[in-house]
Amino acid sequence: SEQRPVIVVPGRMHPRVLARLPDTFEMIRLDEADPALVSPELGAKAVGIATTNRLPADFLAAFQSVEIVANFSVGYDGIAVEAAAERGVVVTNTPDVLNEEVADTAIALLLNSLRRFPAAEAYLRAGHWAQKGPFPLTPLSLRGRSVGIYGLGRIGQAIARRLEGFGLPISYHTRSRRDDVAYTYYPSLKAMAEAVDTLISIVPGSDETRHTLNAEIFQALGSRGVVINVGRGSTLDETALVAALKEGTIAAAGLDVFENEPHVPEDLIALENATLLPHVASASEDTRNAMADLVVDNLKSWFATGKALTPVPETPFERKG
Ligand code: NDP
Repeated sequence: SEQRPVIVVPGRMHPRVLARLPDTFEMIRLDEADPALVSPELGAKAVGIATTNRLPADFLAAFQSVEIVANFSVGYDGIAVEAAAERGVVVTNTPDVLNEEVADTAIALLLNSLRRFPAAEAYLRAGHWAQKGPFPLTPLSLRGRSVGIYGLGRIGQAIARRLEGFGLPISYHTRSRRDDVAYTYYPSLKAMAEAVDTLISIVPGSDETRHTLNAEIFQALGSRGVVINVGRGSTLDETALVAALKEGTIAAAGLDVFENEPHVPEDLIALENATLLPHVASASEDTRNAMADLVVDNLKSWFATGKALTPVPETPFERKG
């Protein structure tokens, strides 16, 4: 009988990927993406890797025959994509299937940051409503705001469509202007921050975006300013944000992503004007199942047809031979 392709799965992985892979592949699990865990035999025979946004270059280097890395995440800032590209290894991600879910979360985080709904619910649950009277009026509201979206890709556009329904003026900053939208374009993030009072970040984590949400940008947003980050934690300078929230440089922030997940700085947790979520933007059962299916279907497609379904732009390869 024919040998089934060997797929290595290091670290945490969605249970649906683990359930589906053995239908088509020989699946080998490792505790983590550590080259010390890769035997010479495994390094020679594995042809694919499925991972959750973690693939250091030294781990990839332990495999001589790997053709494809299927990532369970649309963001691939944790994948050594340059090393993969140099070797002709295709990297796939999970675009589009999570756009609407993540955009919903961005809007929820925005409304919670402005209107303090989590604090209001905690107030009710603590019995304060009956004892002390109504929850305090919120100084912040979505009404009358002007929103700048940092990153207007697949998810950024889904966020913008929702904001159109809220009746707010929308601007965006990306490296290149889009010719398919009517929103106001700013070639500079700083200039956009000066023009709006509400900033939503949904750019990928990269050397270029690292700490671009910083003291200068908070200053530009001003004292009514609100920052929402659903992109990557590395984009935002958390130390500068804590100072800006404490000093009233900006009014509030809502974060789904952090610099050193799952660790969130204590001085951020202590701030009432920070609304904090544990990286749950895509975390519904249906959306995570759709992402899991796309991971498995990319691997199946690669070995059945020689083409991946959703390769990242850096690795536009087809299977050799
Ligand atoms: P896309 O690739 O479709 O969009 C990325 C956007 O960011 C583009 O508009 C791009 O425009 C812009 N961009 C990239 N680099 C820069 C830069 N240096 N300066 C300014 N703009 C930049 O990605 P998606 O919309 O699918 O996803 C975006 C990111 O959201 C993911 O990479 C991931 O990190 C994050 N994410 C977070 C989730 C969560 O759970 N919190 C869930 C899903 C995604 P241009 O190239 O013109 O600059």
